[in-house]
Amino acid sequence: MHRLLLLLFLSMESFFTEAQNNGASFPEYTGNDLGLTYSSKQSSFRIWAPTADKAQLRLYDNSISGDPVRSISMTRSAQGTWTASLNGDQKGKYYTFSIEYKGKWLDEVPDPYAKAVGVNGMRAMIIDLLKTNPLGWQKDKSPQLKSKADAIIYELHVRDASIDSGSGIKHKGLFLGLTETGTKNKAGLSTGLDHLVELGVTHIHLLPVFDYNSVDEIMQRKPYNWGYDPVNYNCPEGSYSTNAMDGNVRIREFKQLVKTFHEKGLSVVMDVVYNHTGLTEKSNFNQLVPGYYYRHDADGKLSNATGCNNETASEKAMMRKFILESVLYWVKEYHVDGFRFDLMGVHDIETMNLISKELNKVKPGILLYGEGWTAGASPLPDNMRALKQNVSKLNGIAVFSDDIRDGIKGSVFEAADKGFASGKPGTEESIKFGIVAACQHPQVDYKKVNYSKAAYAIAPGNVISYAECHDNNTLWDKLAISAPNATPEERRNMHKLALSIVLTSQGISFLHAGTEFLRSKKGVENSYNSPDSINEIDWNLKTINKDVFDYVQQLIKMRRSHPAFRMQTTEQLQKNIHFDEAAPAGVISYEVNGAAIGDSWKKIQVWFNGSNVERTVHLHENTWKKVIENNLFVTPSTTGDLVLKPYSCSLLYKE
Ligand code: CA
Repeated sequence: MHRLLLLLFLSMESFFTEAQNNGASFPEYTGNDLGLTYSSKQSSFRIWAPTADKAQLRLYDNSISGDPVRSISMTRSAQGTWTASLNGDQKGKYYTFSIEYKGKWLDEVPDPYAKAVGVNGMRAMIIDLLKTNPLGWQKDKSPQLKSKADAIIYELHVRDASIDSGSGIKHKGLFLGLTETGTKNKAGLSTGLDHLVELGVTHIHLLPVFDYNSVDEIMQRKPYNWGYDPVNYNCPEGSYSTNAMDGNVRIREFKQLVKTFHEKGLSVVMDVVYNHTGLTEKSNFNQLVPGYYYRHDADGKLSNATGCNNETASEKAMMRKFILESVLYWVKEYHVDGFRFDLMGVHDIETMNLISKELNKVKPGILLYGEGWTAGASPLPDNMRALKQNVSKLNGIAVFSDDIRDGIKGSVFEAADKGFASGKPGTEESIKFGIVAACQHPQVDYKKVNYSKAAYAIAPGNVISYAECHDNNTLWDKLAISAPNATPEERRNMHKLALSIVLTSQGISFLHAGTEFLRSKKGVENSYNSPDSINEIDWNLKTINKDVFDYVQQLIKMRRSHPAFRMQTTEQLQKNIHFDEAAPAGVISYEVNGAAIGDSWKKIQVWFNGSNVERTVHLHENTWKKVIENNLFVTPSTTGDLVLKPYSCSLLYKE
């Protein structure tokens, strides 16, 4: 035991010493041909390894076993790079690199720029990318939205979508599972892709689909993981493919998914995790340039703002270049329509703005957003990082609003805490803050908002409004835990109220997969490696909770048909949203001047009753039409009084 600890200590020590080199003096490679350049006549390789004494390319016949068929010494080249080239068509061969550093050969790895890998991402693969295009790929077109605030995002894990035995989907747990149509649950209700189309969302945000470490792609019965531990950033994950051995297959199948989604009018957002690497000392970055790609504390130890043992250094030239080229690659090669940046607060603002600028040249209006926070302290100063409070400095990149998320349901860090939708008094201003998408509005008392004490967004499109995501308890579980004395019917109303708030608030709407039929993870708060029985979407819930599905579907339809819920500027919402300051405690009411936004509903009144007290509202004019009455869409009819039941949303309009 002691001996093991000592060995671990020694190995960590030597690693920290390597890591102290911050690389500021290293030459930056300015070309765009890092990795493999393939043609049927020649394969050329270039890696950036400025501290290497020697570099070697190894060629293999397969993705996992056997000795190299060739080892080729690489030649030192421009700006810290090494090159090698092979004549003839090398397609189908696998390859790795190894460098000699301070007298020692380091582990062989695919380079970070690898575009195809074999099983478990151990070896890169020489392929012809053109041969991975599905039929009709050249004609593939992304759906278009007029503005970011028009987006309704649905956050989905590839495996969760289809692995349930009742999903009716053939390719369970795989990319191809999400390309199947006509799939149904036991009661004949649509599942998978058809369900997404039926629901009416605009963007499917997929949890990590790049090659990650935690699922052994060889195993017949694979374990489960969310996949926030990147290995090869520019390759799809093998465990979602029908054959992880052949690097072509995962590429073709992910492209097939993108193409199918586009044909159905759905855009694809990738959840990307450039903030840390799944492996630390043994990562491909670190085996080629030890220490360079990471941040370090003043004492030279790796810093850890991610809570995952390391944080990458986006402010360093070659890390910045890597992230930029990686996202551009996914857009150009895979036609991806947006990115969600995990722990975006780790990245520096300059890098994020460069990414936004370059991506917008390729795909104007691309949807970019991220978590404007970290999971620990970073050595890079706060004012330089893409934190929530700095969103006004980010060009066209939105942040998640934890203010509205926890305002709705209570703190994710305190299981018993309730929010507005579950009856917690004094939470009105947090909801109002969310309704105006964290923008400045004269009627919001920012001092009373749960987290942010000031508006941080400069336009509604800066903010993601949500009540629930893959992290923490699902909304339905949170309600069960925090409101144990409420009846199931009351909790159902709380849930509907919560989603009513999300889907009527300004900003970009975001839903966690399955929330539209009360998804549960059986109280498991962090299900990143829980079995399918916890994570899978139980398609039978769609039958059981059809009323919730119908309601959410109609909310989405209403949002998409009425621009009053999707204002473009802060000025618009300042002028055209008016809160009723006479509303009793636990009730939020506001009126929207739809006419000013070009909405067919000239005026809209929204009522949220987050209390357990029934309220009767006497409307001054008898010309309002009810369209939502206590969490139910009704045939529009003129109303006299309005009865607000506990935990309910009602909505009226004037034509
Ligand atoms: Ca993998």
